[in-house]
This record gives sequence, structure tokens and C-alpha cells, in this order.
Amino acid sequence: MKFNTKSVHSGRQPCPATGAISTPIWQTSNFIFDDLGKPKEHDYTRTSNPTRKALEDALAALEGGNAGFAFASGMAAITTAIHFLKAGDHVIVCDDCYGGTYRLFSEIMTKFGLEFTFLRLDNEEKILDAVKPNTKLIWTETPSNPLLNITDLEMISKIAKEHDILTLTDNTFSSPYFLRPIEFGIDLVLHSTTKYVNGHCDVIGGAIVTTTDKLAEDVHFQLNGLGTGEAPFDAWLVLRGLKTLPLRMEKHASNAIAVAEYLQDHPKVSKVFYPGLPSHKGHEIAKRQMKGFGGVVSFKTNSNIGTFLRGLNLFALAESLGGADSLVEHAASMSHASMGEEGRKNAGITDDLIRLSIGLEDTDDLIEDLDKALSRA
Ligand SMILES: *Cc1c(COP(=O)(O)O)cnc(C)c1O
Repeated sequence: MKFNTKSVHSGRQPCPATGAISTPIWQTSNFIFDDLGKPKEHDYTRTSNPTRKALEDALAALEGGNAGFAFASGMAAITTAIHFLKAGDHVIVCDDCYGGTYRLFSEIMTKFGLEFTFLRLDNEEKILDAVKPNTKLIWTETPSNPLLNITDLEMISKIAKEHDILTLTDNTFSSPYFLRPIEFGIDLVLHSTTKYVNGHCDVIGGAIVTTTDKLAEDVHFQLNGLGTGEAPFDAWLVLRGLKTLPLRMEKHASNAIAVAEYLQDHPKVSKVFYPGLPSHKGHEIAKRQMKGFGGVVSFKTNSNIGTFLRGLNLFALAESLGGADSLVEHAASMSHASMGEEGRKNAGITDDLIRLSIGLEDTDDLIEDLDKALSRA
């Protein structure tokens, strides 16, 4: 099956009792055993649930993995993934990772004896220098947030395989429609399904897709042990979102390139970050690695930030991204505040940086909204 067909059909099973074409929401905590010692396929929803299973199977099919797991949030998925490691282990992480990932790793997981090196993953030698005997995991995010830096996943997986290191890609920004990290040798793919995978700004969720039976077994053991799995209703919403993923991603991307090209020529804009622009540092790798460039555009402006933000009508001032509604945010004081001044400085997230999540509205309306607000600021 091709991707669009999988988006609609993978994982879904019509209701066995009624034939309902929409996967039922199995809103139950437990399942009755057939007999002593004879549970059915599912026994307790923390461990597994048929609605969640439908979503998990769909995600595995879309990413090209052997199994998928759905979590209560992207951070729940990240928390579960980092439990692959134990005290004394070392992780190499992209320095411009999601703010919450940075906080979890640097402020919480270090208390349990994990060691992290935050590094721009754009140079083979630099990465090799950072590899230590106790390095167990390389954590990538491409395109990254909010600067849309591109990481060459083939290069990462080559280094990792030579040193027996596990690799993970947070694929939230691309969605499996535009990028499938497993095709480049990555071991684990992670999502905040809150963003493009669900796509409607109405649920919080996360996912991990694995590539081997051993990894799948370990992720499920940790999901069950930590209690990080997704609730049936939330899983159902994400499953519904998946059906339109290809259509939404195409529109996000065509709107985004139009906005990026408009901003690039604006006198009050000093720099635009969008991997679809030939001027973007990672454009060539992105072109090779991705089927499209996504829906997030960031830019630096010398206009008055407050006046600009207040001048927008269509773009809502809000964190998060990946929904039908266009959003705007100030990375330094919003999404990346938890990174601290030092972390932001190292990652190049300056105070004049604005991040746009380009929605599904009409292209001309979006550009007109930006144009009005910039002219006033
Ligand atoms: C939002 C986000 C997360 C965290 O996901 P939540 O669903 O908010 O917990 C992780 N990684 C990336 C890239 C994100 O954008």
C-alpha cells in the first residue's frame, strides 16, 4: 500500500459486533477474562487497549517500523525512551532540541546519573569527538525547533552503527509523510502527536515507533511500567487525524513556502529559516532526505515584536504547532523559555526570533495578515 492508503486504512478494524467503520473508542479500564489464566488479547488499559492498538499499528505502518506505541504526551514518549538508559550512560543530543526535552534531560534525568552532551549535529568529526565509551544514544530532531536546522540522518546512523550506539529521531516537525527516519537507518522514531500527526490542536499525545522485536519489547515494558500510555479517547482522536495527514501536510508546506518567500523579501525581516528555501543551510540535505519541507517558518525581525504580534489577526499568539489554525510565537519567552538564557544563546535562539506554524488557511489571507502587521510594527 502507498502512504495515502495506509493513512486511511492501516491499523483500523471495524467494530466486530456492529460493523461500525470508525474504530470504536474502547473506553474501559479492564477486560473480562475468558477463564482462570485465560485473559483476552487485552486485560488492562494501562498495558494495552484496542483503540490505542489501532493507532499504534497505524503509526508503525506509516513510519515503516515493526511496532508502534502511543503515549499520553510527547514528553511521556520522551520520558519512556530515555528509560532505555541507566546511571552512568551518556547521550549526545542536538543542542537545539525541543525546550521540554532540554529541561527533562538537563534538569531531571541528570539527577539519576545520566550524562548529556548538547551539540549541533552538523559535522561528523565534531560528533565523533563527543562519542565516549559510555555513549549509548544519539538524539536527533530534524528539522529542529525553532531554527529548522537539518541533520543528515544517514551520517548519524553510520557513526552510531560503527560505535554500537542507539539512534532516535524526534520526527514531530516532518511527520512520517515528509520524513521516515527508519529509511536512513535510525532505530527509534518519536513524535509529539499533539502536532502534525493529530493536526487539529485538540489533543496531547506522543508516539514511539521501533525497528526490532527487542526494542519493541523494551518500549512496551517501559510504557507499562511507567504508566505513560495514551488514553483511549485521545488515541481515537489521533487516529482520526491520521486519515487526512497527507492532505494536510501538502497544504501546510505549500502555504509555508509562499510565506517564507514573502518574508525573505521584506525589508523588516533580516533572516528567514525554512528548509525549503535554497538559501537555507540544510536545504540540500533536506531535499535528499525529505519529501517536503514542513509547515514551520521562523524569522528574525527588526520591527517592534509586541506591535507586530498585536497587529496579527489570523495568526493566534500561542505555543505549539502543526494544527489547522496558523499560530505565531516568540521562542525566547514562550516555547524555549525553559531552555534558559545560556541554553538559548548556545542554540542561537535570539530575542528577535519569531516562529510561525503555518496552518491550512488560504495562502493570500496569511500573507496579507503578516503584511499588515509588519507594516505597522
Ligand atoms: C511539542 C514537542 C514535544 C513535546 O510534546 P508534548 O506533546 O507537548 O508533550 C517534543 N518534541 C517536539 C519536537 C515538539 O514539538
